[in-house]
Amino acid sequence: MKILVPVKRVIDYNVKVRVKADQSGVELANVKMAMNPFDEIAVEQALRIKEAGNADEVVLVSIGPAQSQETIRTGLAMGADRGIHIEASQDVEPLAVAKLLAAIVAKEEPGLVLCGKQAIDDDSNQTGQMLSALLGWSQGTFASGVELAGDKVNVIREVDGGLEHVSLAMPAVISVDLRLNEPRYASLPNIMKAKKKPIDAVSADELGVDTAPRLSVVKVEEPAAREAGIKVGSVSELVDKLKTEAKVI
Ligand code: AMP
Repeated sequence: MKILVPVKRVIDYNVKVRVKADQSGVELANVKMAMNPFDEIAVEQALRIKEAGNADEVVLVSIGPAQSQETIRTGLAMGADRGIHIEASQDVEPLAVAKLLAAIVAKEEPGLVLCGKQAIDDDSNQTGQMLSALLGWSQGTFASGVELAGDKVNVIREVDGGLEHVSLAMPAVISVDLRLNEPRYASLPNIMKAKKKPIDAVSADELGVDTAPRLSVVKVEEPAAREAGIKVGSVSELVDKLKTEAKVI
């Protein structure tokens, strides 16, 4: 079985994001970029499934500018086998991403697609769900547990107030949550090996997908600045302020 893992290049999660002066978006010039953290977890899970002998190939797909190949290389250095880069200069919205991934699925015929639950730049949380709808495949979202069981895959889902255990018929699309695993660091020999692993390039046109945006961004704003806190002198003063000022107790 083959596992397909879509990996997105996003602003590194440690970077303090700044809004552009004209409020048209966020500043990307000279900003450190990295693999979307949820996608690293998806790559890790795919590698664990392969290492357990339940898959024979892990293929990464990234849609974005030329530098997205660096993101693919990061996943290849973790241990994935090969990559596919779909060049796109503008931002591609989740529906178009899902259509491009569906076209790659038709070619590659994986048994599982493991994606992140959301990209930390657009916070859409849509791609996995749309992909499974386009393919007519089972979906398990917000996975904090993934276990193969014959032609089924058991997924533990993080839902409000608890965990839901579902058994999905394969092929399936699974979107992974934070607590599924801790992604490995790439070792130096694996970083060297990754340089030789193949990355195929394909265009959205070749896949017959229109990536023109359907939404236009009206304005991006910084969140309101937080007011400075105060220090209270005693517990009774704190309780008094919670009662009379904050009115929360
Ligand atoms: P989103 O629906 O945008 O929050 O993204 C959810 C997941 O879809 C991400 O964690 C990735 O696994 C995948 N994805 C979204 N956009 C891309 C992209 N441009 N290239 C590769 N994978 C993507």
